[in-house]
Order: sequence, then structure tokens, then C-alpha cells
Amino acid sequence: MVHRALAKGWRWDFLLGVGLANVALGPGCRDQGGGYDPPVIASRPVGRVGESGPASATATAEAAVPRLALRQPPPAATQRAEERAAMVEHQLAHPVDGRTPITDDRVLEIMRIVPRHAFMPREVRRLAYVDSPVPIGHEQTISQPYIVALMTQVLRVRSGDRVLEIGTGSGYQAAVLAHLTGEVYTIEIVEPLARQARRDLVEQGYADVHCRCGDGYKGWPEAAPFDAIILTSAADEVPGPLWEQLKVGGRLVMPLGPVTSFQELVVLTKRPDGGRSVERVTGVRFVPMTREPDAR
Ligand code: SAH
Repeated sequence: MVHRALAKGWRWDFLLGVGLANVALGPGCRDQGGGYDPPVIASRPVGRVGESGPASATATAEAAVPRLALRQPPPAATQRAEERAAMVEHQLAHPVDGRTPITDDRVLEIMRIVPRHAFMPREVRRLAYVDSPVPIGHEQTISQPYIVALMTQVLRVRSGDRVLEIGTGSGYQAAVLAHLTGEVYTIEIVEPLARQARRDLVEQGYADVHCRCGDGYKGWPEAAPFDAIILTSAADEVPGPLWEQLKVGGRLVMPLGPVTSFQELVVLTKRPDGGRSVERVTGVRFVPMTREPDAR
């Protein structure tokens, strides 16, 4: 299966988590223990992201209207800026390996600003700008930069949108989203990761990101409805509570498919009748969404 998929030139990515501190802890939090598997990496996208369909049309239109002025660069943005610029150039904007380029100028600019290394454990920070996910402990990883940029692009967040992320992990994706809107909510099920992510977000000037530790399957009902929801772990079906907490016209981006193998990154848009429009983006491999013990 893997060999067949790779032979077809698909891209597989693992998304990943972090190490954390100081979040309001809920009953769903747990420590999955240490250790982690090296991620599997990727060849190239299945889909032609950015070339057709509503996502690309919107990204193209919005590219001409940067809206990043409101947020100050985080303190660590002064560090390793050249590495980030090279990452954006060679991994995102003009990749040479055939993957579909990221075309949203807002996303490219944000990826130049947000210091990925500041959301990683010290011992792996040297790997912060490589073209790969990186383990952050607790069997989780921080996502490959390309996947963070791609998911952000297809989520089509506009200023003022309320966004929910399931799977805070390192906090990096949440920080990226915080440059697009001041209304970011994020939930992490692994307590030490939630704590560390909260700490890193505050340290880097993202104290307005709303963090919670718990089972994200249930969403964040008190803050609903959301304009956009992003799942950074895989599930073989759309979690019902999350779909209910999405506005009509809202987008839900997730790796959908068998959690033990490969998934499709999809954008599901909620139609006025409550139905789903489905846009398939690319093949991916993410860590599975887990559930709190009393939910399994
Ligand atoms: N977005 C992260 C990467 C996350 S990896 C980043 O930028 O670093 C996926 C994360 O989802 C892991 O940290 C994992 O612990 C978390 N996760 C898995 N199932 C979850 C659930 N039910 N609720 C909340 N978080 C969950």
C-alpha cells in the first residue's frame, strides 16, 4: 500500500504535537508518556491544491490584500530569519520537488514571521526549518512547514473569523492562525503538551489565543459557532459535535480516512441545508485523533 502510494507520487505527512505548560486543565487531559516515532516523509501531493476550486480562487483574490499589520512580530522572530526565508522560498513558494506551491501571500508572509523553533523542545530546535515534521515528545510531532502552510491556506481564514483548532501540539499552527484573526481557540488532549504550548504562545506574544486541555472531539460549545475548524490529527469520520459547531458557510479542514494508514486532507464546507461540500486537497498521513478514556 505504502509502496504503491509512493510510486504514484503521493505526498504523505505526519502532523505532530509538542511539549507544553500553563493551560487551564480539564478532565480530558492526560499524559501519553514519552518517546516518539520518527515521522514518515513525503513525496508529493495527490491533488492540485491552489489550481482550481473555491479554495484557490479565494487564496488568489486575498493574496493581493495583506492583512498582517495588526500583530507585532513575536520576540523570537529576530532569530533565524534567514533560515525561515529559505524555508518559505524552497519548501513553500517555489518547491523544486513537484509539490504544489503555496500561493497565498498572507500565508507565505506569516510563515516568514512565526519562529517555528520557539515552539519546539530545545533538543530538536536545530531541525526547526527542515522540510519535515519533528518529534516534540509524547509520541507527537510538530507538522511539516508545508503542511501547516497548506492547511492554513485552504482554511481561508478572514480577519475577524472565529477559528477552532483541535490538536494544539506545539502551538505553532495556532500562532500562525493568530496572524489572520484575533479569535483563535485551540484544544490539546495531552496535558504536558497543552501546558508547554500555552507557555510558548504567551512567551511569543500570543496570549490572546484561547487554550484548553481536553478532548477536542467535543469541540468548544461555549465559543461556538466557528467560521473555521482545523483538525491536526486524523479521524475516519467527521466528529459530529465539531460539524454542529461550524457556521453555515464555514470550513472544516481535516485528514479524513483510516487512522492507521493514510488519509485525505479535505475541506468540508457547510451548506445552508447543513450538507457538506467536499474538496479533496492531497494525500496525507497524520497521527490519529485520540479520545479521553471515558469516551472510548
Ligand atoms: N497543530 C500542532 C500539531 C499537532 S499533532 C502543531 O502545530 O504543532 C496532533 C495533536 O493532536 C497532538 O498533539 C495530539 O495530542 C492532539 N490530539 C489528538 N487527539 C486529540 C483530541 N481528541 N483532542 C485534542 N487534541 C488531540
